[in-house]
Amino acid sequence: MPLARHDAPISLWDVSAIEQDCSVVMDGAQSAEVVVIGGGFTGLSTALHAAQKGLDCLVLEANHIGYGGSGRNVGLVNAGLWLPPQDVRAKLGEAGGAALVDLLGRAPDYVFSLIEKHQIQCEPTRAGTIHAAHSPAGYEDLARRAEEWRRLGAPVDLLSREDAARKIGTSAFHGGLLDRRAGTINPMAYARGLARAASAAGARIFTGVRVKSLRPNGDGWRVETTSGPVDAKKVVLGTEAYSDALWPGVNTALTIIHYFQFATEPLGSKADYILKERQGLWDTGAIMFSLRRDAYNRLIIGSMGSVIGGLTGLSKRWATKKVRRLFPDLGPVKFETAWHGRIGMTPDHLPRIHRLADGVYAPIGYNGRGITPGTMFGRAMADLLSGGSEEDLPLPISPLEKAPNRAVMSRLYELAFTANQLIKSV
Ligand SMILES: Cc1cc2nc3c(=O)[nH]c(=O)nc-3n(C[C@H](O)[C@H](O)[C@H](O)COP(=O)(O)OP(=O)(O)OC[C@H]3O[C@@H](n4cnc5c(N)ncnc54)[C@H](O)[C@@H]3O)c2cc1C
Repeated sequence: MPLARHDAPISLWDVSAIEQDCSVVMDGAQSAEVVVIGGGFTGLSTALHAAQKGLDCLVLEANHIGYGGSGRNVGLVNAGLWLPPQDVRAKLGEAGGAALVDLLGRAPDYVFSLIEKHQIQCEPTRAGTIHAAHSPAGYEDLARRAEEWRRLGAPVDLLSREDAARKIGTSAFHGGLLDRRAGTINPMAYARGLARAASAAGARIFTGVRVKSLRPNGDGWRVETTSGPVDAKKVVLGTEAYSDALWPGVNTALTIIHYFQFATEPLGSKADYILKERQGLWDTGAIMFSLRRDAYNRLIIGSMGSVIGGLTGLSKRWATKKVRRLFPDLGPVKFETAWHGRIGMTPDHLPRIHRLADGVYAPIGYNGRGITPGTMFGRAMADLLSGGSEEDLPLPISPLEKAPNRAVMSRLYELAFTANQLIKSV
């Protein structure tokens, strides 16, 4: 039975995605070999790959597909992690670090191959992404990244100030790093497409079902939900920054910050000179800024923090000012939608794979970069649960640790982000 949705859209993508949510209502007690909690990239990629391997798999999502970070995302399908490759190797060791950098460097290819294979209607563009320098120091950081990626054979170009201005349509940046492996998508549509593909492969996808508790049951787990019990052999928590108190410690392992976005109404051809090759962009600023167009020529800008004052308040003033400063020739624009979402940060900016108990795993901590890692870690979960070894996971299993001073840090970040909006909107 299809799910009747009664909740409001959570983002532009929730409304503009052509892909439909194929999930259904859970009807009574269930059992499965693998139960996945969370209907985002991680959970759905786990379900897709597990079902393709012949595992009987079931997804339980408290709200709707893509309700978490996956449906609120900017849609930048990036290669690698936040940290430059050399820093990843320094933190994880030469061999392990190099393997993770290699896996995630190739991950956009894999994401776009899934989109192609399953004909996911998610507005894919494959023109790359631009990491734009907000300052001369930002440019130096990009030069260091470019040198290392080139050494590794990645197709990246360090853009001069003039080249960046030509591609972006503004001379506000000090240069940029064009990564040709990357691209953009409508992230909600990608999540729904993964769900459709997983369902076609045999997975059962249930939404509107919150998991309340997990307890050992024979050689597996009893999963208590708001719609009845589910018996499982193995469980994957793909709840990331939207984790509740289900498993003690998962929701305190991450420091939560917010990221918000404003989308204009479709601008027609007058916005064609902005990111004219349709790259997605983010900058090197400590309080990051992002910019892209969607398939309907909406301009979408975002930054760290929450939407304050809806479509008429402080954040709207910030967005208006930002667009005017970057693109003075564009003229006034009308904003159609604004939304924000939660990002889960780890102290070292590396993701984690936790084994919470025998047969219970939680890949989390994407630090705001989850499309490619979520997809790859989901695939790795399926490999593991179908008889693979923990040794072959993209990251070593790590113990669950509380993020230091997480509540205080979250509040401090939020204050700094609000101050940024205030300062930049006058
Ligand atoms: C505004 C924003 C912009 C971003 N931009 C980018 C970007 O451009 N590129 C990029 O790569 N990454 C980006 N990210 C990060 C990325 O979106 C996340 O890392 C990714 O979506 C995490 O996916 P996930 O499947 O692990 O978790 P989520 O997509 O967050 O899904 C977790 C799900 O678990 C469900 N859940 C929680 N508890 C329970 C329970 N007890 N029972 C049942 N269900 C439960 C929630 O309802 C939720 O739907 C962005 C994040 C945000 C918020």
